[in-house]
Amino acid sequence: MTAATRHDPAADRPAISLAAWRGARLLCPACGIGRLFGRYLKPVADCAACGEPMGHVRSDDAAPWLTILIVGHIVVPLLLMVEQVTDWPLWVPMTLWPAVAMALMLAVLPRAKGLLMGIIWAARAPGSEPD
Ligand SMILES: [Zn+2]
Repeated sequence: MTAATRHDPAADRPAISLAAWRGARLLCPACGIGRLFGRYLKPVADCAACGEPMGHVRSDDAAPWLTILIVGHIVVPLLLMVEQVTDWPLWVPMTLWPAVAMALMLAVLPRAKGLLMGIIWAARAPGSEPD
C-alpha cells in the first residue's frame, strides 16, 4: 500500500472544535445539517442527512456536570448581585432563583450534551460498552 492509497481515518471527520460547535447547536457533528436529537435528550440512531450513526455515542454524566458548571456560574453571581440591591419579601427570591436555574438548566442541558457528543464522536471515543 502506498502513501497515496493509505486511508487516513482522521481525515474523514471534522476537527473536534467544529464537531463540538455543531453538537452544541444540536446538529449532527459529522455534517452539521441533520438533527442530533430526536427528542429532548434522545440522540437519533443515525443522522437523517448523512447517515452517520449517533445513537451509540454516550456522554453519560458529563452533560449534567457541564450544565451545573455553566448554570451555577450564571445564577449564583446574578443572585448575589440582585440580593445586594433589592429588598424583596423572602418568597420572591425563593421562587425566582429556582425558576431561573431550572429554565437555564433546561436550555443548557441538551446543548452541553450535544457539545460533548460532538467531541466524543470526533475523538472516536463513543463510550460504547461491550454487551
Ligand atoms: Zn449528519
